[in-house]
Amino acid sequence: MKSYRDEAVVLRTYKFGEADRVVVLLTREHGKVRAVAKGVRKGKSRFGGRLEPLSMIDIQLHLGRSLDTIQQVELVHTHTKLRTDFARLTQGLSMAEAIDTLTPDREPVGHLYELLSRALIELNRHQSPLLLGAFYWKVLAADGASPVLDSCARCDEPAELVAFDLVEGGALCSQCRAGTPISFAALELLRRVLGGALAQALEAEDSPVVNEVNALARRAMEFHLERRLKSIGVFDRHL
Ligand SMILES: [Zn+2]
Repeated sequence: MKSYRDEAVVLRTYKFGEADRVVVLLTREHGKVRAVAKGVRKGKSRFGGRLEPLSMIDIQLHLGRSLDTIQQVELVHTHTKLRTDFARLTQGLSMAEAIDTLTPDREPVGHLYELLSRALIELNRHQSPLLLGAFYWKVLAADGASPVLDSCARCDEPAELVAFDLVEGGALCSQCRAGTPISFAALELLRRVLGGALAQALEAEDSPVVNEVNALARRAMEFHLERRLKSIGVFDRHL
């Protein structure tokens, strides 16, 4: 197989050599792929603005050893509204960054592609204050780090849960209390996000409960990424 086609989301790009750019893609079938867009920094490019971060594209690539080469690109979705709204753009880039950090090269992760492409379409469609937090929780669950929410993560008692601890990986009862306090309403909202009522959860308006779920999502994602990076030895190499 020398050439292949796939759907992809552009995660990020960086300069490469004198005139080229490397585009980091999350593809539907082939996982994360790094591909060279030749000559794009020399004025007019035949790829135009189709390789901007967060664009959804249909792409034809020539297989290389570590870097593939981009042959053809068609734009599927440019997410115009998302691009012209700084808050939404920042959220979209945070989503792409989390996926980029979690995903090894060339390992198919179709479930993460689904999550990212759907979240970007949703983010472009309308502004939900819970979207980024909900996305983080869904990605954590898809990556095997679903939080325990129905009984105490430490003693397993189905008691009232009052705290959330990242090390224990879920909610804790008053006996085992550690980490940060969590409100009953935030636990309920989190259960909806992860328990098949996502669309309904995303209708939540900006509130302290939404902020609670978002803040916890951000910390849970940071915790998970750090552990993942340690496990693949990225930190060791920099010591
Ligand atoms: Zn307990």
